[in-house]
Amino acid sequence: MNIKINENFKNISQSYLFSEIARRVSAYSTANPDASIIRLGIGDVTRPLTPSVCAAMQKAVDEMRKPETFRGYSPDYGYDFIREAVARHYAENGITVDPNEIFVSDGAKSDLGNIVDILGDNEILIPDPVYPVYVDSNVMSGHKVSYLPATAENGFLPMPEGLDGEGYVIYMCSPNNPTGAVYSAEALAEWIAFARRTGSLIIFDSAYEAFISGDLPHSIYAVEGARECAIEICSLSKTAGFTGTRCAWTVVPSELEASGLKLRAMWERRQATKFNGVPYIVQRAAEAALSPEGQKECMENVRYYMENARIISEMLKNKGIFFTGGTSSPYIWLKCTDGMSSWEFFDYLLEKANVVGTPGAGFGACGEGFFRLTSFGTKEATAEAVARLEKLL
Ligand code: PLP
Repeated sequence: MNIKINENFKNISQSYLFSEIARRVSAYSTANPDASIIRLGIGDVTRPLTPSVCAAMQKAVDEMRKPETFRGYSPDYGYDFIREAVARHYAENGITVDPNEIFVSDGAKSDLGNIVDILGDNEILIPDPVYPVYVDSNVMSGHKVSYLPATAENGFLPMPEGLDGEGYVIYMCSPNNPTGAVYSAEALAEWIAFARRTGSLIIFDSAYEAFISGDLPHSIYAVEGARECAIEICSLSKTAGFTGTRCAWTVVPSELEASGLKLRAMWERRQATKFNGVPYIVQRAAEAALSPEGQKECMENVRYYMENARIISEMLKNKGIFFTGGTSSPYIWLKCTDGMSSWEFFDYLLEKANVVGTPGAGFGACGEGFFRLTSFGTKEATAEAVARLEKLL
């Protein structure tokens, strides 16, 4: 063809991490059709939707059945009822967010990928290792990415020391995928002070906030000054089992402004142009997930997963294998044994224990030599995987 393409795609790593895992698992199971493979790799959930979520969906389906209550296109940013439900969710944690600063979408991944549309060619700071979507979506847009190493030495929580530029776009993920590290209020305050001093923007991914235990901030807006420098993106995927149902939100405070434009207005314009809203049925389901009853049910599922995290952690502790996470995060981040690389360890566990995890190197160069296990499996599968790993490691 004679068309010009987006040449930046040539700079993206060959295959998306989870596609490569799927390829290797599929090759292994084709060669070993009797192997009973346990997947503790991709971060998908296994608990079904909760009763109040399903009841709300069913009620919404009934409404869609009748001409007098049928709904067509939803507002691009979400119905008032869901924007208000999200605002109440923040208010329960003492945080004030106006419903018109909340933009409901079909997933945090979409928002994280799309937010680059409203930003220019800034220097992008991304923790390493982290959820790969931040890097890939910026590379696709031709942006210059610099990495913030997250290592055992800094507790997997990089800080702004040593940064002397300005006008950065800084991605943060807390609790972190994959390391499970969570920023304290004091550490966030330091980042916020840095961002405000240097005119930088923080994009804060709080997709795993429901897994936080103890007195750590669930939202960057729990810390003073964040409204002047941060966008927050959150999701019901892991909290409410919405990985297949799809609902998330992005908060763009009205204080955020650059080059004479309000970022809130820009995001509104971007969504109105390229997004046609979340299905009514899903918005009602999300509203139910955020209700007091829905939250109680969701937290039961969170506890279920955290019990899986506990049994994985216990096994690693008993083996003397270094790991982090598993207390305020569904992920356990462990050091590969015997000096293996991440992908060597992946193949080793796949072949010798038929257990699938995620190679740390897939999350960034600093993830090399590490491995991620998730607690999102069923209790039974997790117990079986732990028994196999106990024997192998
Ligand atoms: N952010 C992080 C850190 C994630 O790990 C994930 C999914 O694994 C997402 C966002 C995507 O969330 P969603 O399912 O809402 O697109």
